[in-house]
Amino acid sequence: MNISALCKPSVGEGGRTGDWRDVRPVIDHTKCIPATKGKAACFLCWLYCPEGVVAMSIPVHIDMDYCKGCGICAEECPPNAIRMVREEDADE
Ligand code: SF4
Ligand code: SF4
Repeated sequence: MNISALCKPSVGEGGRTGDWRDVRPVIDHTKCIPATKGKAACFLCWLYCPEGVVAMSIPVHIDMDYCKGCGICAEECPPNAIRMVREEDADE
């Protein structure tokens, strides 16, 4: 059984749940540990995200189609590399 397949976000009854979001996480990659160290480390945002939308990649990537904007990743990030930004103030 491929357990990782169970963790991947997919369209469910709620559709693209990212549409529910009022605020979005924005990562400052100059503070994010994997990006600054150049190696797989930390990833607490991946660990704590209840939606499974954070990729353990360098740089860390968040799937905005499904991120609900709960802010848990920002709360758990040790160097405060994630800030929550109102959707209307976000660049993308
Ligand atoms: S918790 Fe913060 S520092 Fe750690 S990987 Fe995620 S964004 Fe980077
Ligand atoms: S805001 Fe919530 S849903 Fe979005 S990446 Fe962070 S922990 Fe996951």
